[in-house]
Amino acid sequence: MKKIAVIGAGIGGLAAAHTLKKLRDGGRELEVTLYESASQCGGKILSERKDGFLCEYGPNSLLDNRPSAMTLCREVGLKDKILRSNDASRKRFIFSKNALHYLPEGAGSFFTSGLLSFSGKLRIVAELWQKKGDPTKDETIREFAYRRLGKEAYDKLLDPMITGIFAGDPTKMSLMTCFTRIHELEMEYGGLIKAMMKLGMEKKKKGEKSGGPAGPGGTIVSFKDGLQELIDALYDELRDITELSAKITSVSKVGDEFILTVEKGGDSKEVRYDRVIVCTPTHVMVKMLQPLSRAVSYELGRIPYASVSVIALGFNESDLNRPLDGFGFLIPHSEKQEILGCLWTSSIFAHRAPDGKVFLRIMAGGMRRSELVEKSDDELTALALRGLKSTMGLEATPVFQNIYKHKKAIIQFHVGHKVISDNIQKELAKFQGIYLGCNTYGGIGIDGAVKSSVEAALDAAK
Ligand SMILES: Cc1cc2nc3c(=O)[nH]c(=O)nc-3n(C[C@H](O)[C@H](O)[C@H](O)COP(=O)(O)OP(=O)(O)OC[C@H]3O[C@@H](n4cnc5c(N)ncnc54)[C@H](O)[C@@H]3O)c2cc1C
Repeated sequence: MKKIAVIGAGIGGLAAAHTLKKLRDGGRELEVTLYESASQCGGKILSERKDGFLCEYGPNSLLDNRPSAMTLCREVGLKDKILRSNDASRKRFIFSKNALHYLPEGAGSFFTSGLLSFSGKLRIVAELWQKKGDPTKDETIREFAYRRLGKEAYDKLLDPMITGIFAGDPTKMSLMTCFTRIHELEMEYGGLIKAMMKLGMEKKKKGEKSGGPAGPGGTIVSFKDGLQELIDALYDELRDITELSAKITSVSKVGDEFILTVEKGGDSKEVRYDRVIVCTPTHVMVKMLQPLSRAVSYELGRIPYASVSVIALGFNESDLNRPLDGFGFLIPHSEKQEILGCLWTSSIFAHRAPDGKVFLRIMAGGMRRSELVEKSDDELTALALRGLKSTMGLEATPVFQNIYKHKKAIIQFHVGHKVISDNIQKELAKFQGIYLGCNTYGGIGIDGAVKSSVEAALDAAK
């Protein structure tokens, strides 16, 4: 009987434990325990309904073209409960020069859009004739964008997109780690427009939809009561192998066995396992894995996280000055606004606000304004309202507010991350049987966490 411990019951740890349980139920000789330091599962995923508004602590959606997370949803029986975003929410906006501009979705709207100047558009088209970059160079996203698409496209398109996905700083982030596929497309096809044309033609032949510049392709999905439904379904299935309020403080190895120190209810004990899958954020692993390997711990400590504050505000629909006819908007850094952007949550999904109300989710902070996470709730609300006034011209008084602050919200893959993750993998290979799941090696977001944790589980069970 192989004993396997999974540490951390966020979506990554739950996915790893679910995979192992499936193998065990199928006859594999496994004994699995899932340890979670908090009194509930879910980690960054937590949905709370307050006064009829659905508040999401961290992520608020999945993409239905990301196979790992969608497979998990199906496997826990949630296929028929998936809630598709409203079609109108495919429309996204960028705030630039005192106005919200519709982000073009296709070639036609690209040329008529007021977001970019004529010369900015020509510079994007000139991408067709740019030379291929050095395949081995770990460039920043800004370096890549300047080289291929020009400064204006970087400022108005790439920079806000990075804010929306990573709350990151594109002058530090690594293109080849954050957007591996884009790096590969340049190398394979010689450029992005060439790649889009070729792949678009191939998809057309197969009758598939393609993403286009405004959206990532696929459809944004969630559940009626938020992503919590996925966590609850997983916990229901894993209840008998999960230890809540059980914090792992150290991992070491003696002979063939890993020794975990577990703190629970004021007691501390040591437990032994043949395999360990660590699914906590990397900043937690730093101390936990120090007894195992100082080198791994050192490398993990070099991975930064962006802070984010999520300010959710509800308004009377009748107090609005404009229709919320889209997904929301992002703001380029060059606009020097205090907020990063705003999702029009109640326009994206049904069941997010009571009748007659709308719900907005404003993000502030990120890598370039990390100090904002220290502000009080009142200061953050005031900052969000100033942001809504100067971008949307909204001056109404909110009827509901809810704030979540994440000091270490989203993992950042800066230039040099590939070296860090190669060093970690090389060093960990010396201790056969330990795996790092979640977002550590390059897969950002829920799908990345699920994918790497499921792969770790399949390997650990061999
Ligand atoms: C504001 C915000 C918005 C986001 N939006 C999106 C989005 O829209 N779409 C998307 O795909 N992603 C989004 N993300 C990213 C997404 O939330 C993460 O990628 C994903 O939830 C990571 O899951 P995880 O299981 O790896 O880690 P976590 O969710 O951090 O879970 C780790 C778990 O480990 C536990 N733990 C920690 N220390 C210990 C210990 N010592 N012993 C035992 N257990 C421990 C924690 O309590 C936690 O439950 C967002 C993140 C934030 C913060």
